[in-house]
Amino acid sequence: MTAAVQLEDVACVFGSGASAVRAVDRVNLTIDAGEFFTLLGPSGSGKTTCLRMIGGFTLPTAGRIRIGGADVTLAPPYARPVNTVFQDYALFPHMSLRDNVAYPLMVRGVAKAERLRRAEELLALVQLPGVGDRRPAQLSGGQRQRVALARALVGQPQVLLLDEPLGALDLKLREQMQSELKALQRRLGITFLFITHDQHEALSMSDRIGVFNAGRLEQVGTPQAVYDTPATRFVAQFVGAANVLDGETARRLTGHAAAMLRPERIRLAGSAGNAQAAGTVAEVQYFGAFTRVKVDVGGTLLQADLPSDAGGGAPEAGRSVQLHWDARAVHALGA
Ligand code: ATP
Repeated sequence: MTAAVQLEDVACVFGSGASAVRAVDRVNLTIDAGEFFTLLGPSGSGKTTCLRMIGGFTLPTAGRIRIGGADVTLAPPYARPVNTVFQDYALFPHMSLRDNVAYPLMVRGVAKAERLRRAEELLALVQLPGVGDRRPAQLSGGQRQRVALARALVGQPQVLLLDEPLGALDLKLREQMQSELKALQRRLGITFLFITHDQHEALSMSDRIGVFNAGRLEQVGTPQAVYDTPATRFVAQFVGAANVLDGETARRLTGHAAAMLRPERIRLAGSAGNAQAAGTVAEVQYFGAFTRVKVDVGGTLLQADLPSDAGGGAPEAGRSVQLHWDARAVHALGA
């Protein structure tokens, strides 16, 4: 099977000399056709630059980019079989929604009747049938983002690039759009390359995730692999909450030089014989579905996320507790 997108030793440096910024640093990545792939990383880690190089808006300073097997490293955006959805929608305010969606087809010279038919089809696909006459200002943020999606899909790109498309939406709407986007991608079978700094979004939507840090890809894997077996301590701490243990504490509690233990894997021990650690509760935070308890274990704070419905309720600050975890919950980290 031909890969949808391949990056080979791709780098992008902005500026030169002492002020040079290495935004993307020799990235190698293969995205399969039909995959929902997410680039996840903090602000400034190089995700957008990577996406812009695939879209053709920024040229790499080194390396090669292939789409569907063809080398497009230096090709202009319009000559690439990709399209991009941005966070700010970028709809034309003076045009009807139908004309907005049909616009890319007009630029390509598709006949009017055909492009309007396709625009209506796409508006129905993103669950906005019958609103073609309206203008962007008459829609909510979520609806505008759906129109932007329809416009990006109307030209049938091989790969759809999505740059934090849900970032401007409130939480409820974002969650709804997440499942809609995922369902749409499954139905169309188009490769989606999605960018976010939100770990929940990445975990819940993606077939695979690439975690970016300081211009480098630190790990590529399924959501489960990235969460359960992070390749580096950065990935451990960026994707989900983590107790990262080092030195003497790590050796004593886990037998490793450095290790990660997810807070939800820690429980209160029923008996001393069943405990891996003992300590004093330093802080308790109620989150509804779970209660976050920080326990001082010999000077190291261990965070445990306990189900809020656990019998007996959460312990209060100052109480001595014993903690239990399954040995399989411990993930050794490089020093
Ligand atoms: P965000 O989520 O904030 O968009 P990001 O992970 O997408 O962050 P990039 O926008 O790719 O990160 O930026 C990576 C680095 O490159 C940053 O240090 C940024 O300041 C720098 N950078 C990006 N574009 C340019 C540019 N046109 N000129 C100079 N530096 C740039």
